[in-house]
Amino acid sequence: MKYDIIAIGMGPSSIFMAYELIKNRSNKKVLLIEEGKAVEKRACPIEKTGKCVHCKPFCNITSGFSGAGAFSDGKLSLYNPNDDDIYVGGDLHKYIGIDETKKLIDYTDQIYLDFGADKHLEGIDHPEEIAKLYEKAKKADLNLISIPIRHLGTEKSHELYGKIEKFLKDNGVEMKFETIVSDLIVEDNTVKGVKIKPSSKIDDENAETEEILADTVVVAVGRKGANWLTNICEKHNIETEPGIVDIGVRYELSDEVMKDVNKYMYEGKFIGRPYPFRDKVRTFCQNPSGFVSSEVYDNNMTLVNGHSYKEKKSTNTNLAILVSHHFSHPFNKPIEYGRNVAKNLNELGGNAVVVQRLGDIKRGKRTWQHDLDNNKVVPTLKAAVPGDITFALGYRTMTDILQFIGEMDKVVEGFANPENLLYGPEIKFYSNRVKIDKNLESSVKGLYSIGDGGGLTRGLMMASCSGVYLARILENK
Ligand SMILES: Cc1cc2nc3c(=O)[nH]c(=O)nc-3n(C[C@H](O)[C@H](O)[C@H](O)COP(=O)(O)OP(=O)(O)OC[C@H]3O[C@@H](n4cnc5c(N)ncnc54)[C@H](O)[C@@H]3O)c2cc1C
Repeated sequence: MKYDIIAIGMGPSSIFMAYELIKNRSNKKVLLIEEGKAVEKRACPIEKTGKCVHCKPFCNITSGFSGAGAFSDGKLSLYNPNDDDIYVGGDLHKYIGIDETKKLIDYTDQIYLDFGADKHLEGIDHPEEIAKLYEKAKKADLNLISIPIRHLGTEKSHELYGKIEKFLKDNGVEMKFETIVSDLIVEDNTVKGVKIKPSSKIDDENAETEEILADTVVVAVGRKGANWLTNICEKHNIETEPGIVDIGVRYELSDEVMKDVNKYMYEGKFIGRPYPFRDKVRTFCQNPSGFVSSEVYDNNMTLVNGHSYKEKKSTNTNLAILVSHHFSHPFNKPIEYGRNVAKNLNELGGNAVVVQRLGDIKRGKRTWQHDLDNNKVVPTLKAAVPGDITFALGYRTMTDILQFIGEMDKVVEGFANPENLLYGPEIKFYSNRVKIDKNLESSVKGLYSIGDGGGLTRGLMMASCSGVYLARILENK
């Protein structure tokens, strides 16, 4: 069997690539391969069971058509026309330039609108109030990034990606679900295709694999596939650069405390470099009236995340507080470091997300269930286990987070309230960054890397843009 293009993974990056090839009437024969299920078959049982049941072979939150996008909050980060840089979503602009990236965001945003995204934009109606927040942040030694956000909402994201799946099917894109790409076929530094096996055989290393050939293979494996990609790069000598890992917590506090940021910006992107380490610490993925969620990765690694619906509301806001960690010599394995942190904290929580009150951390005590029963901020992730996250997050990460919370309290009064909740671990894995040229081609001929997995993007909009951009390159190849 031979295709013109095979894409590994069906997250936003690869499905937007397939969409753009169709739109441009390309006659390329395209195959998308995904280890998870079609979007209509994806469901997380936690709402019924009350706790994560560790779906086999893959977590429905992170795998399947539209990847991590299906159950995401669906916040599409656009750009501020007055900025002469792109501050959110990764590094695509470093390859294709700022102006080209802005045009690409406009174009991709329109695709989302065509498939039914809300026309309303958050974060543009209150420039004076945002300017005041910006000034307060500056005084607290924090940078505040203000960009328009289009909010799909979790239930609408699912629906919208369902429509895209139908569009791709109706237009002849071949899609293989519940199929793992176990390896690449590379000869003379040129990609020739992929090896696949059924997802049900994930743990069977001797399972027979099938070869599918293509002159172009696109790696679009997302953060879920970051570890797989790191191993594949090592095996096939695909050039990489040292990556980073973002480690932190999901922070939950009352909507009341966050009301200004929620109202004026929907999502405030605050960045600091607190003393003494001066590591980059940032807020990420803010969900007003949202819900904290859990997701499971390979080897049963359980991580925390958050999202919000368009209709269903809580009275809490959640957001990630993430610390970027770089390593150099002699240890340079950010994924391994992050996995060890997750493993330790998962063990402490009996394989569930651990939750602790800020005040308890400061008092040096763990949190107990009876503490939560009387807590003003009621946890929205019922499956989280009260405990002590400081056993597992290193001194450096913990200090960075606590210092940052202190700085944020100067901007948002009540941000450091002792009853606020920290859930862990929240970790964003990126493979060692795949070295690519401006056509997004790696050091192996015919092998391309898009989306979050290879470290190019971070987020729905830019992952989608990277797919559109690559489609335009491939259709002329
Ligand atoms: C709960 C949650 C909320 C989020 N909220 C937001 C938000 O509001 N705004 C935002 O911008 N971003 C958000 N994100 C992040 C966003 O979803 C990702 O940035 C985006 O999905 C990345 O797209 P991608 O195509 O690079 O990869 P992904 O969406 O991760 O898709 C990769 C796909 O590849 C598959 N795969 C991996 N390895 C293999 C293999 N070997 N063989 C076959 N298939 C494979 C995976 O199963 C997966 O489906 C959220 C993520 C989560 C989990």
